[in-house]
Amino acid sequence: MTVAIFSDVHGNREAFEAVLAFCRQQGVARTYFAGDIVGYGADPEYCIGLLRDLGACCVVGNHDAAALGKVEAAYFNPAARKAVVWTGLRLSVEERRFLDELPLVHEEAFTLVHGTPARPEDFDYILSPYQAMKAFLALGGRLCFVGHSHRPGILVEEKDAIRFDGSVSLELDPDRRYIVNVGSVGQPRDGDPRACVCLFDEDKSRICLHRVAYDVARAAAKIRAAGLPSVLAERLFEGR
Ligand code: ZN
Repeated sequence: MTVAIFSDVHGNREAFEAVLAFCRQQGVARTYFAGDIVGYGADPEYCIGLLRDLGACCVVGNHDAAALGKVEAAYFNPAARKAVVWTGLRLSVEERRFLDELPLVHEEAFTLVHGTPARPEDFDYILSPYQAMKAFLALGGRLCFVGHSHRPGILVEEKDAIRFDGSVSLELDPDRRYIVNVGSVGQPRDGDPRACVCLFDEDKSRICLHRVAYDVARAAAKIRAAGLPSVLAERLFEGR
C-alpha cells in the first residue's frame, strides 16, 4: 500500500489541489499531513475544508497554532506575523475548532510531527547535527516524517553519525532509522518552486519525494489581491 505524506500547505489552494490530483493519479490509499495548513497563502478557509474532507491524518503546525493565538507573535518575522493576523481574523468558529483539535504528534507504524519529535510543542527545526541527534534520541520508532523547514530531505541514523541523504528516492534499510522531511506543498524553500509530496510504499519500504507543478502565478496574484505582504507572492516563483 502506498500512502502520501505532505506538509506546509500554508493556504495555497492551487498547490494543494495539484498535489491531491497527483495523489489520486498515483492511487494513494491514505494521506498524512504534517502541519501548517494555514499562514502565508490567500485561501486558508478553503484549504482547511479540503483537508477536513480528505479525512487525512493530521498534526498541528506552528502557523495553525498561531492563527489560534497560541504561539508568541515574536516567533515570526514581520511578513509571517502579518499573515498570521490576517489568517486568524478570517477563520470561522468551526475552522478554529478543527485546528484546535489537531494533535501535536501522531504515532502508528511511523511518527508524524511538524518540527521535531524532541519537545514537539516548541516547534524547533532539525537543521544542525545537534538538533538531528536530539530528534533521533526522542524518536521511539524507526521512521518519522516531519515538515516545518520547507526543505525536503532524508536523515539517516548511522552508528556514530547522522547522514543527510539528498536523494529523492530511497529504500529503507530495516537496521537503520530515518527522519524524512517531506518539504512543503504551498511554499517550497529549496529553490524548486514546485509543490512537494512524499510517497511511502509500505510493502517495498520505499520513500519517494515527488515534485508537482502548479499554477504559481494564480496563487501569487491572490496573495497580492488579498493585501498580504508582496514578498509572500514573489518567493513562490523562486521557491525561496
Ligand atoms: Zn511552514
